[in-house]
Amino acid sequence: MIKILAIDDHLDNLISLRAIIEDTFPDSTIFTAQDGQHGLELIIAHDPDVILLDVVMPGMDGFEVCRRIKEDVRISDIPVIFLTALGSDKRSRLKALEIGADAFLSKPIDEAELTAQIKAMLIVKHHHQKQKYEKEYLTALVTERTEELLKELKERTQAEELLLQSNELNNSLLQTIPFGMDILDENGNIIFISENFKKLIGEYSINRKCWEVICDKKERCTNCPLEKPIKIGETNIIEVDGILGGRSFQISHTGMMFKGRKAILEMFQDITEMKRSREELVLAKEQAVESNKLKTAFLNNMSHEIRTPMNHIIGFASLMQEAAPADKDLYAEIILKSSNQLLSLIEDVIQLSRLQSEKIRIDKREFLPAELVNQVIKYYSNGNVKNSNLLISSIPENFKNVTIVTDLEKLNVILMNLVSNAVKFTFQGTIETGFKVDDDKVTFFVKDSGTGILTKEQDRIFDTFYRGENALTLVIGGAGLGLSIVREYIKALRGSIEVESTPGKGSIFTFSIPVQFANNSGSLASTAVIGQEVRKLSILIADDEEINYLLLEILLKDVITKIDHASNGKMAHEMAHQQKYDLIFMDLRMPEVNGYESTKALKRDFPETPVIALSAFTSQEEMELARLAGCDDFIAKPVKKQVLFDAISKFGYKNN
Ligand code: ADP
Repeated sequence: MIKILAIDDHLDNLISLRAIIEDTFPDSTIFTAQDGQHGLELIIAHDPDVILLDVVMPGMDGFEVCRRIKEDVRISDIPVIFLTALGSDKRSRLKALEIGADAFLSKPIDEAELTAQIKAMLIVKHHHQKQKYEKEYLTALVTERTEELLKELKERTQAEELLLQSNELNNSLLQTIPFGMDILDENGNIIFISENFKKLIGEYSINRKCWEVICDKKERCTNCPLEKPIKIGETNIIEVDGILGGRSFQISHTGMMFKGRKAILEMFQDITEMKRSREELVLAKEQAVESNKLKTAFLNNMSHEIRTPMNHIIGFASLMQEAAPADKDLYAEIILKSSNQLLSLIEDVIQLSRLQSEKIRIDKREFLPAELVNQVIKYYSNGNVKNSNLLISSIPENFKNVTIVTDLEKLNVILMNLVSNAVKFTFQGTIETGFKVDDDKVTFFVKDSGTGILTKEQDRIFDTFYRGENALTLVIGGAGLGLSIVREYIKALRGSIEVESTPGKGSIFTFSIPVQFANNSGSLASTAVIGQEVRKLSILIADDEEINYLLLEILLKDVITKIDHASNGKMAHEMAHQQKYDLIFMDLRMPEVNGYESTKALKRDFPETPVIALSAFTSQEEMELARLAGCDDFIAKPVKKQVLFDAISKFGYKNN
């Protein structure tokens, strides 16, 4: 259906136009307006296919109406046919064309001409419309395509960004990946090597067979997964020893595409470390189980070692009061022996813990090692330690007068422990000890014909608290500390020790220590000579414990006539001002004024009077403090008679 608008100020013109149009285009709709303004409103409201426009109208004339139509993009493509009586006016026609008029019809209207013009205009309108739709369609298409392109561009930029990032990631992975990585073709040729791996196998490995580069034997691994094709994405893991110089690797092979070809990604994880820590874990577990067993054995053993002498001491001390005088000596001897046994156990434990935590001080002096060996032999032969062995000192004649310079005390402890073991673990046999001298060292040996040591135990006997099977099954006393102390002392003397042993036949312990040699022979401990002149000495004992004093008084009363007692440091200092003493024994821990302070005061007022510290605290630190306070010597409690006498004979005559 076509819509036609006719604008003319003359109603009769409009009526005749309507009649013509209805006649020619029966299915058309006709709108009419008698002025330009109304006409424009109808155009906007009905969008007519053709406008028939009168030129001369009151108010807004046809030119103005046409100008407004052509300026408005919504309606500008509607064809406008001017109806004018000015058909011959050339200027008006030109003006109308400039404004945008599409055709002219002269009044009076010729019906055939009007119909032809309307038809022509309908075609024009149709083309305009078509063009408009095409333009709109094209614009929409261009917009849509532009949006798509922009989207594509954005996506491409993002993809490029991601690619860049992923390339950077790949590169940095390949540079820094902490394990070896390469890529093989299907025949096992290396076609790519990661940076890290390059350092290990060299970049000239490219194009060589992987096993020629990596396997020590340069042969394919027995379980080489390349024998069968590996699917893409499939991974096969093998563990191979003898890689890159005797190492073990876990190698994973994964099927992949590389540069458009099927390939295998090979990754190497060094398990030289993992295997070891696995083994170490197993070992640690075994050791934990073993140490638990040892702990139980140790506790049982210690309990036995402590209870046995305690049993003797308590048992015989309780019998003492009612004992017949003839038995008393025997009981006292048993009590003394058991006490010494207990004391030596305590000393060993303390000694060892000190050796392991403190720096060992070496006190060197000159002495004859032959004399030391003989004293040790004498100690174990003369009934001090019960045994049915023959003890022999074996020293070549030319070494008997050799004098060496080293720590006598420590050497003595080492030899005493080794001979003590030899005696303990030999029931009826021979024990031989001696030494030989080389350029700058002395090598001692202690040989026995006893139980011997099982081969598997020989590495462990120097461990603290370790006791061999023989010691436990044959119930041979001991706390498993002797050889640990020996080892620590030998270490401190920069020496070394070895053991050779045949189970059932005997053992030989050999140790060497570097020494200096001297020309003068220094004698060992000068055994105290307690003679008449000693009796004349006057001695002061400062100790707050009455029983400690009593013990010293009993030990000394037969040989020394003048023994005084001070029960603290202050008193000792006051007494020294009233009377001259030849020797003062000073307990260190006392109330009011302690032994250190008292010694300082005494040394300030009587620098020549020897002061000997007595203390149950026997650490190096304690000894050092006593020395700094001015003490001339240090005696550890419980006091041994011989040590006491030695001190008296060494210091008592200083001022006489
Ligand atoms: P203990 O003698 O108190 O057991 P040690 O540390 O001195 O402790 O010795 C550790 C272990 O070494 C002993 O328990 C024993 O099994 C073994 N051993 C040491 N010396 C000998 C020896 N001469 N003959 C046989 N076994 C010995």
